[in-house]
Amino acid sequence: MTVGLVVVCHSRPLGRAAAALASEMTQGRPVAISVAAGLDEGTFGTDAVAISEAMTAADDGDGVVVLMDLGSAVLSAETALELLDDEQRERVVLCPAPLVEGLVAAAVTAGTGGSREEVAAEALSGLAGKEAHFGTSAPAEAGDGSAVVRVLNPHGLHARPAARLVTEMRSFDAVVEVRNVTTGSGWVPASSLTRVTTLGALAGHELAVRASGAQARAAVEGFVRLAADAFGEVTEVLADPRERYVNHPTTGPALHRGASTSHHYRVSGGSLPEACGQAGIVDNSDVAGGSAKATGGAGDTERLLSGAPSSPGIAVGPAIRLHEQPLQIPDEPFQGTEAEQRRLDEALTAAHREIGQLSGDIFAAHVVLLEDAALLDDARAQIAQGLTAPRAWRAATDRAAGEFDALLDPYLRARAEDVRAVSTQVLRALLGVPPATVDGDGILLADDLTPAQAATLDPTRVAGVVLAKGSPTSHAAILLRTRGIPAVVGAGPVEAKVIALDGSTGEVVADPAPEVLADFHQRAERQKASRDNARANAAKPAVTTKGVTIHVGANIGSVEEARAAAENGADLAGLVRTEFLFLGRDEAPSEDEQVAVYRAIADALGGRPIILRTLDAGSDKPLPYLPAPQEANPFLGVRGIRHSLAHREMFAEQLRAIVRVARETPVSVMFPMITKVEELIEARRLLGDVPGLRVGMMVEVPAAALRASDFTPYVDFFSIGTNDLTQYTLAAERGNADLLALSSGLDPAVELLIQNVCRAAGEKTKVAVCGELAADEAVVPRLLAAGVQELSVAPALVPLTKQAVRAT
Ligand code: PEP
Ligand code: MG
Repeated sequence: MTVGLVVVCHSRPLGRAAAALASEMTQGRPVAISVAAGLDEGTFGTDAVAISEAMTAADDGDGVVVLMDLGSAVLSAETALELLDDEQRERVVLCPAPLVEGLVAAAVTAGTGGSREEVAAEALSGLAGKEAHFGTSAPAEAGDGSAVVRVLNPHGLHARPAARLVTEMRSFDAVVEVRNVTTGSGWVPASSLTRVTTLGALAGHELAVRASGAQARAAVEGFVRLAADAFGEVTEVLADPRERYVNHPTTGPALHRGASTSHHYRVSGGSLPEACGQAGIVDNSDVAGGSAKATGGAGDTERLLSGAPSSPGIAVGPAIRLHEQPLQIPDEPFQGTEAEQRRLDEALTAAHREIGQLSGDIFAAHVVLLEDAALLDDARAQIAQGLTAPRAWRAATDRAAGEFDALLDPYLRARAEDVRAVSTQVLRALLGVPPATVDGDGILLADDLTPAQAATLDPTRVAGVVLAKGSPTSHAAILLRTRGIPAVVGAGPVEAKVIALDGSTGEVVADPAPEVLADFHQRAERQKASRDNARANAAKPAVTTKGVTIHVGANIGSVEEARAAAENGADLAGLVRTEFLFLGRDEAPSEDEQVAVYRAIADALGGRPIILRTLDAGSDKPLPYLPAPQEANPFLGVRGIRHSLAHREMFAEQLRAIVRVARETPVSVMFPMITKVEELIEARRLLGDVPGLRVGMMVEVPAAALRASDFTPYVDFFSIGTNDLTQYTLAAERGNADLLALSSGLDPAVELLIQNVCRAAGEKTKVAVCGELAADEAVVPRLLAAGVQELSVAPALVPLTKQAVRAT
């Protein structure tokens, strides 16, 4: 038996040389080594077709082991596998060993007649000699000091989960290393946040971990546990990742509305009002007088800017600015390695103290960055080479931030922001530059804010914020929302003395004319009165002006949210996302556990009806205990009902639990992601005939909306999930902040689909909408006009949604 070898790498000369070196080691025993490397003699690249041909050439019936260099070599090798017929594919092993060392070890083992598995295993330990030589961590045996895990976090291993990983791994007496198997990265120390995050580990990627030292086994076990717990990011995994902003009680509609619109920005041509009272909604007469004087007559100009609504609320006030001394690194003499190192250490301690006073995950990640071994080592190495502490620190942090900038994933790329924020904080301490201050009370105009600046603004003085740069998903924007400071971001440079802004629509008016100011003033008052009124009437039914009662329910994903729903006057739980029970744990919940939780939800709602949606797992919400193959397009993959029908035992258990609760309390059941009538029929067959149990389906896929009339014989109600229906109709991923312009608001195409569903439903079948659009007051009248009879929204938005119904 001779197993063949295939070398896949970016450079043809490198591939040939590696093969020649390996052949030298086989002691004259012939081993077939095929090389698929480079696009030609001089062009770097890999080609799947050439790789599949090399696989065929090296396989004389005993199969092949493939060794790859990195990145696209791995992906091309996987593609090449697809090009082989089933029988041949079975005989191919893609081996994650290092190319040169692995190839040499593999060739020797293949030459002695080893099996494919033996050859691959030998290749995997190809680094052992080198590691032993340098006394670094030798890869431990599987089950002892190594493991492979899958990343469950929807946004991958970004700064916060990575920070958690690094913190935990540092607590072990072990040298722990991790690599991204999916991208074929090298090993990085698990003690370094910058190195771990630059693995570019996305949701679904596989990470290998290895450890050596006294607590190697405990460290690896800890790592595996942590990975199953999504590195502590449980709440984000439980909820759909997008809900972090689309479903947020205060931010959701704000981001949905207006994100796609351009915003009016007026610049008055005359002189500007001199004084503007205090921050907040300023006294109308003061400003109106000043502004009228200033802007009266010709010369007013209008221009449109695109800004993003980022934190809801209306604010008017004088423009104020951040005062910060520029961070200029002086040309100063090097004071010696020890002295510079001491300077850096002192500055790190000072920054640590400052950041430690701020609470929140973001700052916890910053603290970990301050302790990052790779970052600190890099800075120390620069000092050792004669750079002053500030220069060394800047060089090290620039390099780390640059590594993030180079990543493909936008979410991970944005983490460069964290490194720069920490860099600035330490540099300020090094150079003795005080933190930025705000020069008065009013609306803060700034280029951008660091998270620390956003976290320390005083809301009693800063009534609103307009940022020239930034995005609604930046840390600064998130903090402003959390702190209730109205904000518009990405508005471009604004020069003004007075600013009026609406953080729900993204509108920014610079130096507003008196009538504009009066308008903002009235809007703010209306907004406040409307909120107060909505809250006071939350428990009453929502009846349109024509006397039609529309039930307004709540979308919930926990017992706590069920309580919030009841407090906010929800008429029902229009959508219970049962996946919260299934995610972030080691095994599926038992039937009894499910019954207990569904009962608790029903109790919390005090006997109001609840609509239990069966598990909407899979793809972007993978279950750790049901590992699934990686999917290139998870949203088009095995999710919702497809997942349940693929795991029937678990599905049947959930259906049994739902039926048991339905005997005691008003429960309906609905199935997510139904695309074909056959799926619905099969789901109903598994559910069985349960007298009195109302059965519905989510309409989230355009195919289902278009063929709604084919589904009506099998359902009592439709619940339109506009979050998914919008993303599938517009081919715009719902969590992608860059596509907000496409996916916000009620698109006419989606509206047509909703109208079609309502038409098909007729008298017999009820139609509800449970996507985020149901809470958009501008959209509610259109939904009701189409024939929608029930709405379900985030618990906190029930009062305002009822109000929107009453106004219709
Ligand atoms: C939807 O898609 O609109 C919906 C309500 O379901 P989810 O947000 O849970 O996917
Ligand atoms: Mg959905």
